[in-house]
Amino acid sequence: MDKNNQTIEGLLEIIEKYNPNKKELEEIKRAYAYAADVHYGVKRLTGEAYISHPLAVAYILTDIKADYSTISAALLHDVLEDSDVTYEELCNEFNSGIADLVDGVTKINKLNFDKNRSGNAEIATQRKILVGLCKDARVIIIKLADRLHNMQTLWVHSEEKQKQKAQETLDILTPIANRLGMSKIKGELEDLCLRYLKPDVYFSIVEELNQSKADRDAAVNYMMGRVSELLNKNGISHEIKGRAKSIYSIYKKLDKGRKFKDIYDLYALRVFVDTEEECYHALGIIHSKYKPLPKRFKDYIAMPKTNMYQSLHTTVFGEDGYLFEIQIRTYEMDEIAERGIASHWAYKENNSDNVSTLMKNTMEQKLQFFRSLIELNNEEVDDEDFVKSVKNDIFDENVYVFTPMGDVIELPRGATPIDFAYKVHSGVGDKMVGAIVNNNIVPLNYELQDNDIVKINTNKNSSGPSYEWLNIVKTNQARNKIRGFFNRIDKEELKKKGEELLLKELRRRKISFHDIFTDEKLPDILEEAKVKSIDELYIALGNNQVTPGAVINTVSNERETKEETILRKKMGASEAISEQAKGDIIVSGIDDIKISVASCCKPVPGDEILGYITKGSGITVHRSICPNVSELEERIIDVKWNNSISKKYPSSLMIRSIKDDNLLLKIISKTSNRNIIVQSINTIDDIDHVVINLTVLVDSLEILNQFMVDCDNLSNVVLVERTLK
Ligand code: MN
Repeated sequence: MDKNNQTIEGLLEIIEKYNPNKKELEEIKRAYAYAADVHYGVKRLTGEAYISHPLAVAYILTDIKADYSTISAALLHDVLEDSDVTYEELCNEFNSGIADLVDGVTKINKLNFDKNRSGNAEIATQRKILVGLCKDARVIIIKLADRLHNMQTLWVHSEEKQKQKAQETLDILTPIANRLGMSKIKGELEDLCLRYLKPDVYFSIVEELNQSKADRDAAVNYMMGRVSELLNKNGISHEIKGRAKSIYSIYKKLDKGRKFKDIYDLYALRVFVDTEEECYHALGIIHSKYKPLPKRFKDYIAMPKTNMYQSLHTTVFGEDGYLFEIQIRTYEMDEIAERGIASHWAYKENNSDNVSTLMKNTMEQKLQFFRSLIELNNEEVDDEDFVKSVKNDIFDENVYVFTPMGDVIELPRGATPIDFAYKVHSGVGDKMVGAIVNNNIVPLNYELQDNDIVKINTNKNSSGPSYEWLNIVKTNQARNKIRGFFNRIDKEELKKKGEELLLKELRRRKISFHDIFTDEKLPDILEEAKVKSIDELYIALGNNQVTPGAVINTVSNERETKEETILRKKMGASEAISEQAKGDIIVSGIDDIKISVASCCKPVPGDEILGYITKGSGITVHRSICPNVSELEERIIDVKWNNSISKKYPSSLMIRSIKDDNLLLKIISKTSNRNIIVQSINTIDDIDHVVINLTVLVDSLEILNQFMVDCDNLSNVVLVERTLK
């Protein structure tokens, strides 16, 4: 198409063919008028009015049947950057959907992937932008179209600028296009990049192609005719096309040392059929007539590429001894192969909301890169590691390997089985003990190759990754997960160490733990140590960030302890029992006190109980017969069971019996009859007797007594009693 003849009317005409919505067409027209007004009087270096650029970008997007929001945003894409129009104005004038797209494109322009020029603030911004991109792929699609048009008009710039733009495009935008499966636009960009980066190579390939064109066309046309005939004879309706190899892909092959005349897939054709089954059927028919070249067959239908690409590839010996590369795919696969994520526009009604949701879902589910990006963002990874990791993921050359189930896993070149394990699942990585590649045991630093089938051996008792792995792995994802593992382990150890240090100091000063760590004092201690929880306090102690002495001093000069507070309250308390109490045990006159049930005598509802005011940890409830509380009168306080609350309590029993192999079973069956839960059992064998210590959870004394009678009635049982310690 002659770019000079592009007009808004021409644009609308094209769009109308795939989107006849009158209102949306009007909106596109309005966006154009608005942009034309803003850019009025500004000229591009090419001499054209500036508006010709956004218009050309919109034209490019019609090729992928972009929806009206995307087209409108394309027309407006330079408005925020090149004028003082604001985001809010765009929202008011159009809508937030369009304004967001324009804003997104403006932000991508600020993405700077140059490692040497990124400061901390920039890195944080980059992360935000990258995460933002995941929300709406249309932003990147507009950016790609924008860059394509700029590359098409790159001739206007100085050689230096040409090379710089071309390199940037090749480094950043074509890998992104590849990630999105948009191979058509990627191919166009790559060819343009090569033209400016290595003009001599580019033009010599063009020259070679031109010279051999007549011969090649003849050979390809002949072969197409024969293959088509063959498929017709077998009743497969199809289309068949010759396929021009991109200049850039030929350059890559030459660059690897091949000679031009040895690039056999210069002769290439593509067969289109209606269904997946027909793809395989067609393949079988072609192979039965033309011998396939070994190892050149690829089934990307059963195993799609990570950017959703599907097709069957084979290379066969053709009629005249030429090798032909043949790709077989359905029309739908072709749409996805050419346009990737944008293919959704061709298949969906033109409902923008639907399209962006659908694209988002596709990105999350089908595009591995985005899935790992989203996962990575959910992990605790600092901004720098995040951006580095994403850059590696997008821009490094990749290797494709398989799980034993045939799923493709994409990793940067040089990746090891450890990277593979962590990419599959961090649980797999942490429990990994070995790897098997193509049925052979390999060392953990083995460099994965394309098409390797990788099986990870795990052992649930594995103690976890080793520090050595940090030097072996290639991906930041694996490195981060291994570091995360060690952080967790280290924290546990520091916690233990910190707790020990504190207890030691307390012992030295003869202070009880409970005197210091009261509910009232804890907040002061934590605040003084600048930590949020007692676990963090231990870690800080273990790290020597704070000393045990400092922690204790924070509070130890405050004389009134919790026990004193309670004692003081008790003096003035009325004897009336507050029925408002919320807990299972009611303390006379006092609420809001920590109450716990004593573990020595284990009272259960129905037992006569009393409260004992402990040093520092509130009130402990004992059975009134408990020998541990008989003395200190002034520490005793009235308590009673709150009958409106039902809860199970532990009770310990000792059962003495004559030896009986089935005794345990019998006892346990008695517990289930009474809705009693067994918490622990241990058995001590005598010569002819057996003693069972049993702790059960029961609702009340009544049930406990019934259960004791049940046990007592078992033959061989000699004695059943509640234990007091
Ligand atoms: Mn632009």
